[in-house]
Amino acid sequence: MSELTRLSAADLAGRIHAREVTSVQVTQACLDRIAAVDPAVRAFVHLDAQAALAVAAQVDDKLRRGDPPASPLAGVPVALKDVFTTLDMPTTCGSRTLRGWRPPYDATVTRRLRDAGVVIVGKTNMDEFAMGSSTENSAYGPTHNPWDLDRVPGGSGGGSAAAVAAFEVPLAVGTDTGGSIRQPSAMTGTVGVKPTYGGVSRYGLVAFSSSLDQGGPVARTVLDAALLHEVIGGYDALDSTSIDAPVPPVVHAARAGATADLAGLRVGVVREFRGDGYQPGVLRAFDVAVSRLSELGAQVVEVSCPSFDYALPAYYLIAPSECSSNLARFDGMRYGLRLGDDGTRSAEEVMSLTREAGFGPEVKRRIMLGTYALSAGYYDAYYGQAQKVRTLIIRDFAAAFERVDVLVSPTTPTTAFALGERVDDPLAMYLSDLCTIPADLAGNAALSVPAGLSDEDGLPVGLQVMAPAMADDRAYRVAAAYEVARDAADGGPLTHRVPGIEVVGEALC
Ligand code: GLN
Repeated sequence: MSELTRLSAADLAGRIHAREVTSVQVTQACLDRIAAVDPAVRAFVHLDAQAALAVAAQVDDKLRRGDPPASPLAGVPVALKDVFTTLDMPTTCGSRTLRGWRPPYDATVTRRLRDAGVVIVGKTNMDEFAMGSSTENSAYGPTHNPWDLDRVPGGSGGGSAAAVAAFEVPLAVGTDTGGSIRQPSAMTGTVGVKPTYGGVSRYGLVAFSSSLDQGGPVARTVLDAALLHEVIGGYDALDSTSIDAPVPPVVHAARAGATADLAGLRVGVVREFRGDGYQPGVLRAFDVAVSRLSELGAQVVEVSCPSFDYALPAYYLIAPSECSSNLARFDGMRYGLRLGDDGTRSAEEVMSLTREAGFGPEVKRRIMLGTYALSAGYYDAYYGQAQKVRTLIIRDFAAAFERVDVLVSPTTPTTAFALGERVDDPLAMYLSDLCTIPADLAGNAALSVPAGLSDEDGLPVGLQVMAPAMADDRAYRVAAAYEVARDAADGGPLTHRVPGIEVVGEALC
């Protein structure tokens, strides 16, 4: 594997902008790596090598002419979750119903990447319409975890996380509705950030649950995630829930955090996130991470957020309710698949045939759950009740953030599970988002940073850092300080230290 693919996005950008290496060389190195390992990892559903190399050549030309780089990430390759619309590539959302669909416009995230001179190499695999925790609900087959190809990479953004973990690209964009950036990041040993709701535009992000969906970065370092966050984040008039305020200074926080301790910082350990269902090796790795935060000078206290126990059931009413409404548009009339339109059937019959064949079982389950929860006579008991729980969760966060600056927990109760293990058990699948869902329901910022390996199975564990809304920079600062301390204690970054990545290289090349 080319040394270039091992470098961070920040290092690559520095070398490209200093013209020590070209963006074309870096992009080609990523494409070679993808060609070597993706037949086994299957992170990508669509690649556009030619377009990527053309963009890279344009960036190189401008730099050669002496123009300043369009952004701190100009010339760096990135992968995009296949839920963001792209004018020049299909957008399938992992669904059969959108196979080959070409959107008529770019998502704001896509456009911002293009404007920043970032090289989009392709679209990554995901659970259908972002519903799932393992990427096994994709109509295009599962993605495999680069640490152990028989395990899931998490989901729904398993493709983005696996592509970054397998050194196919240094950066990817994901979306987090209940954990789909942080949970796969925890399971693949990458950094994944769910920005404050409204921090990254949802324009052109195919909607699953509009009050929760949020785009964000996946990277191998905290600084890289921050650099990507600043490129894609910020106000967008095309998204009515976009926050009209500057992006929190996440790059500054990531740089400052890496050179400072955490003296004076108050860290709350969420009491509810341990106990039954938590893998002992995950809890041990988490406890080591918390002790590192103390060693860095943070004042660690235990904090109780009692309503977090009800976050999962509330989420599984609110998200399906919104999805049942959002997915009504896939009716065979406007997008993608249309079946049975032979002149003998009514529009309703065509819609019904199309939806029956176009959606997978999990999407159908959610649409049915959501339709039921919203129906007359049940609305108050289910959807209304769940919204009240949501308010209680917001209040728990508010009370906690009066006492502490950030909250921490394991990102997931277990490490990556085996492919197939939970496909027939939706509840077991849902439980892997136990710790990530509260931050989505409340809309505040949260990230997952690698916290070493479980001593039981040698698989990555994630440390979740949660901060108040619009205090994304605070979470970055903590994660950056922790990352330096972790690497000093562990003798190097997770992804470089462990044979997992070599296994990918050796087994697949
Ligand atoms: N796993 C959760 C679900 O299936 C979260 C998905 C997401 O964040 N997109 O709903």
